[in-house]
Amino acid sequence: MSKIIASAAIRGAHRMVERAEEALAKAIAEKGKDTKIEYPDTAYFLPIMLMLLGQKVQKLGDLEESLQEARKLLAEVPSDELWLPYLGDTLDAGAATLLAEETIESLKYLTGPSPVDGIWLGFTGDPTLRLQGIKLVDGRMPGFAAIVGATKTNEEAVALVRGLQERSILVFMAGHSGGKAIAEQLAEEGIQMDWDTFLVPYGKEITAAVHALNFAARSAMTFGGVEPGDLKAAREILLYNKKRVHAFVLALDSDPDVPADQVLTDEKYATAAGAINFGFPVVSDVNIPEILPTGICTYEHVVANVPVKDIITRAAEVRGLTIKVEKIPIPVPFGSGFEGERVRKEDMYVQFGGKYTDAFELLRMKPIDQIVDGGIEVIGPEIDAMKEGDAYPLGVLVEVAGREFQEDFESVLERRIHEYISCANGIFHMGQRSITWVRISKDAHAKGFKIKHFGDILIAKIHNDFSSIVDRVQVRIITDPDKIKAPMEEARRVYSERDDRIAGMTDEDVDVFYSCTLCQSYAPDHVCIVTPQRLGLCGAYTWLDCKASYQIDEHGPNEPVEKGACLDPVKGQWQNINDYIALKSNGNLERFNAYSILEEPMTSCGCFECIAAIVPEANGVMVVDRDFQGMTPVGMKFSTLAGQIGGGTQTPGFIGIGKLYISSPKFISAEGGIERVVWMPKALKQEIGDRLKARLKQIGKEDLFDRIATEEDADSPDKLVEHLQKVGHPALAMDALL
Ligand code: SF4
Ligand code: ZN
Repeated sequence: MSKIIASAAIRGAHRMVERAEEALAKAIAEKGKDTKIEYPDTAYFLPIMLMLLGQKVQKLGDLEESLQEARKLLAEVPSDELWLPYLGDTLDAGAATLLAEETIESLKYLTGPSPVDGIWLGFTGDPTLRLQGIKLVDGRMPGFAAIVGATKTNEEAVALVRGLQERSILVFMAGHSGGKAIAEQLAEEGIQMDWDTFLVPYGKEITAAVHALNFAARSAMTFGGVEPGDLKAAREILLYNKKRVHAFVLALDSDPDVPADQVLTDEKYATAAGAINFGFPVVSDVNIPEILPTGICTYEHVVANVPVKDIITRAAEVRGLTIKVEKIPIPVPFGSGFEGERVRKEDMYVQFGGKYTDAFELLRMKPIDQIVDGGIEVIGPEIDAMKEGDAYPLGVLVEVAGREFQEDFESVLERRIHEYISCANGIFHMGQRSITWVRISKDAHAKGFKIKHFGDILIAKIHNDFSSIVDRVQVRIITDPDKIKAPMEEARRVYSERDDRIAGMTDEDVDVFYSCTLCQSYAPDHVCIVTPQRLGLCGAYTWLDCKASYQIDEHGPNEPVEKGACLDPVKGQWQNINDYIALKSNGNLERFNAYSILEEPMTSCGCFECIAAIVPEANGVMVVDRDFQGMTPVGMKFSTLAGQIGGGTQTPGFIGIGKLYISSPKFISAEGGIERVVWMPKALKQEIGDRLKARLKQIGKEDLFDRIATEEDADSPDKLVEHLQKVGHPALAMDALL
């Protein structure tokens, strides 16, 4: 343990706590102790206070207590001659720093300057945390990097974040080095920075780094089901992060000539000490004292002098991250970090589909002798023959063969086309089937991206992800406006055949359901049971997906579970399913009802697409999705509701569900099904409109669609009941829910 680090970190912590005290005193003088203090869109109050102190900060006055606790953690600054054999005081200083930084950052929301400013995004709300959390859970994102400072040149900055994006590592950015922040360097280079691209600029001050740590703290509370409250819980949250959140800090300095202790300020050391508490190691390109022995972190704590070009590899080693970089034979970078990237009209070279031209994607199985593995054929003009700014048709026909392949898997693989194509840097892809919309950017075109590269991406990815069921893949791409018509008709016929087949499949038709335990890496006691009529609550796994996934990897997260004797056909309970969940929930749950919201419902991990909750006053149920940030008629926003039902525990009256389940005949059928639904956000209602109307038609209640209220009709139970009475909603007259 280095004495220099200890004194710098402790000195930095003293300074940070003083800064927080001053800012707080000023805010109290201006606004009074009773003024409300909060971050937007979170149910976790100020997460660092909640985690470390179990304190639910709501008013400015509460922060005085937080800072008193922070003070208690501050040891005297050791003289530079003093040798500290252990990390204790440094870690405490780190914790105090985080409390102080959380104070400073949250005060900005009250007194300004606004933390959301230009490129800077400020605090991450719970809805985004959940959306991104599922990617950490299912391994799409191996971890996150918090970058503090800046690189020497803009080119280095771009290369570094491109490298992280290619490895699908989420990037948080805060602080600066000599006045320069890496996010500013990226902005100068025109790099898109937001949650869609995995590049998240928090703030220019080092204090904004606390947002990366309050994100980590909430991950443990959201997905790990760790209840905050006391020191033991705080320790659990920190351990959870050490074990499951694969994060690291990159402390970068832009100026090689300035001595290390002058560029990596005491405040930065103190913040780094805070991160080490979480088990997040610090890797730097600067010559700072190293802390090598293991203890808190899995391996080294602080590693110095690593050139920026080697820093990702070194950081991955230090954090014990296994990262595979897929080499796809295309001229642009490829990785999940590019998945959400948009291509704006000004940056577009050519586009396909959308409202402009015919476009479709279809994946079919074929006899093995009809497929040339790796074959790519472009039928119609290549990109060189296309005019900049124009729209062309695009038919993508993928044909696969494999001994273990079943026709049912076609749609499972086909749905992945979106993700695969989107992961190419400079390519925008939206939709599926015959409603796709694709853009190729000028930049990708300049780098040599061709139409045929869509084929290269699909062939490489399908071989990589589905090697156990696919032996051969070939791709035909049609860009000729005349030649696309017939195949597009054929594709439409296939889609509708498939829909009929799947829509007709009921829970009674099958003997096995599938489990999904993917989320156990984050919510160790949670199990999803996926049935033909109730998909996983994240919306990403249908019964067929799970079946294919089992075929692909028998030891993967999905296994078949025989239903066994039916104990209750109405509520949806089976003997073997009960036995299975008792085992897999580590004894936390003995049984559940698949079709009930009230009686022993299924549990939730944290990544549900929607929450269904009963509205007692209306004798009905409301459904809210995570994109809706307004108030719901149960008096809670999505984020507050979500905070109450995650972590793998049963919460009668509330369930986390996938959007598709809403229009399923098994949707809370124990309580009367779809007729119970009294409220949902307008956007959700529109999104699932076609399926919902089809379902209502089945039961001869088409008129119910317009009676379901939205935020435009009611945002409180009283107004809701009033509205339901006005439109004559059937829920009011149904059997009493409670
Ligand atoms: Fe997690 Fe359930 Fe989705 Fe599986 S199906 S990824 S366990 S939410
Ligand atoms: Zn989950």
